[in-house]
Amino acid sequence: VRITGKNAVFMDSSLVVSAAYSYHCTKSERYYSRSLLFSSCESIVASPPPSPPSSPLDDSCSGSRKRKRKKKKKKRLYTPNEKESFAECRHQEVRGDILEAYEAFQATAIPRVKSHAVALRQILPANTTTIVCQEQEQEQEVDFVELGKLWQAPLYEITFSQSSERSSGQGLRSFTLFNTVIENAIKEEVVAECAGCRFLLPCLCQFLISDINQVHQLVPGSSCEGFNLLVIDPPWENKSVHRRALYPTLPNRSLLSLPVKQLAHADGALVALWITNREKLRQFAEKELFPAWGITPAAVWYWLKVKEDGVMVSPLDLAHHKPYECLLLGYLPCQPPLGTDNKDVHGGTADLKHEKPPDKFVIISVPGDHSRKPPLGSLLSGFLPGPKKVKGIELFARELTAGWTSWGNEPLRFQHLPYFRRK
Ligand code: SAM
Repeated sequence: VRITGKNAVFMDSSLVVSAAYSYHCTKSERYYSRSLLFSSCESIVASPPPSPPSSPLDDSCSGSRKRKRKKKKKKRLYTPNEKESFAECRHQEVRGDILEAYEAFQATAIPRVKSHAVALRQILPANTTTIVCQEQEQEQEVDFVELGKLWQAPLYEITFSQSSERSSGQGLRSFTLFNTVIENAIKEEVVAECAGCRFLLPCLCQFLISDINQVHQLVPGSSCEGFNLLVIDPPWENKSVHRRALYPTLPNRSLLSLPVKQLAHADGALVALWITNREKLRQFAEKELFPAWGITPAAVWYWLKVKEDGVMVSPLDLAHHKPYECLLLGYLPCQPPLGTDNKDVHGGTADLKHEKPPDKFVIISVPGDHSRKPPLGSLLSGFLPGPKKVKGIELFARELTAGWTSWGNEPLRFQHLPYFRRK
């Protein structure tokens, strides 16, 4: 939903994902299970538990200790370090735009969000937390990261079955699961089975389950077959991800070796890089990563996360937990044919023909699973250099996209069949 007069959209990510399937759609209650859990726990999180009562003796001791602590606190007034001050400046630069988009969203798109929330509540009417947890516990899911570490990993296969009654009568086909580029070359989704679970593979998709050292397998033989849209969501080092063991992370320097340039189309490519709000990472991305990959910055977009009732997931100005994440956009130039002077081609008109993305664009949506990003293909398709048709690749993907290539160590994560229902 375009938010009238603003540089912003509201996106129902679950609906957008569903649109790519002929016979299936995502289960909204599954896609948004985290936000449902979040809203039902919200009141508990908001009020801290009362402190336990203590004896009069304890009281006098703790009282004097408290006074001492208070004195100490007064002395050590918190002063932000250089990076924190930088981050605060960046925040001040965009908070007005984000707030304007949010207020316009509240005024225009909220009925749609409300009906969406009501629909979700109808699916899960009673004690949402319990139902979602029980349902998830019962379902077996493959942990591809762990499976990939086993010595038996090279022996695992994925077997395609038929997608639906209407699909052509192809026999069962099997492929080595890890380190192999696997493709669903037909124009409808297929069901595939591996490690005792079933997965839904969207039409015309391709994927590679591997560690970063195998990503070069996706580099095309000729840059004319390269990608014009690259979406990258790196496993940035992050304390919360480590603590909760959500997925393995990578040191920043490993990202420098991603073959971004080699993956790009000869006519150039739009690159979208997700970044957390840590100033250190932002500076690394802007000062080292983009230059190393040969990317010219074009715009910064913001993903504002709202709860199912349309309210921001946290206050906009909270110091260490912003309700938004950044998407850095930039261009890889067209690649000169061998033997051509670089400058001539880059300075030519080929790069300038296409529309550029607006700066400070705001995507408002309800977040899905931890770190799951909203789908970007339709939003970015108008800003591609070269061929207008999207030829997209997602690096560090946890799901597949129709017509795209997905790479990461768990790109089938959100393709488990129980995440979908028949249309
Ligand atoms: N964009 C994804 C989404 O919307 O669901 C989230 C990506 S998450 C931030 C980063 C992903 O990179 C995780 O799935 C993680 O397991 C994967 N990853 C971590 N280390 C990796 C490595 N060495 N090679 C390949 N993938 C890796």
